[in-house]
Amino acid sequence: MSDDCLFCKIAAGDIPAKIIYQDDNVVAFEDISPQAPHHVVIIPQEHIATVNDLQSEHTALVGKLVTTAKSIAADCGFADQGYRLVMNCNAAGGQTVFHVHLHLLGGRSLTWPPG
Ligand code: 5GP
Ligand code: ZN
Repeated sequence: MSDDCLFCKIAAGDIPAKIIYQDDNVVAFEDISPQAPHHVVIIPQEHIATVNDLQSEHTALVGKLVTTAKSIAADCGFADQGYRLVMNCNAAGGQTVFHVHLHLLGGRSLTWPPG
C-alpha cells in the first residue's frame, strides 16, 4: 500500500470504483474514462509502480492479471469477438497512474497501430 497512490486507495476501498472482480491478489474495476464500450482496469493488490519494477517473484501475479482479464471478457460476452490488453509503462508509454495495471478494452473494433 502506497499512501499517495490512487489505485492503492481504490483497492483498499478508500476511493469508490465500480469493482468487477477482486480476490487476495488482484482487483478489477471499470475505467473512469472508458475508451471502449468495455474498459476494465486490472491491478495487483500489491503496489508496484511500473512494469520496469516487476521482478521474477511477480511472474505468477502478472499471469493472474491476464487470466483475470480473459475471464472478464468471457463473462461480459466479448471474448470471441476479440479485445485488447494493454500495459502502459512510463511517460512515453502513456502511463498516468503509477501502479501497474492491465487495460482490458472490448466491445468495438480496435485499430492498429495505436496512437
Ligand atoms: P494509464 O494511462 O496509467 O495506463 O491508465 C490509467 C487509467 O486510470 C486511465 O485509463 C484513467 O482513465 C483511469 N483512471 C484515472 N483515475 C481514475 C479513477 O479515479 N477511477 C477509475 N476507475 N479510473 C481512473
Ligand atoms: Zn499503488
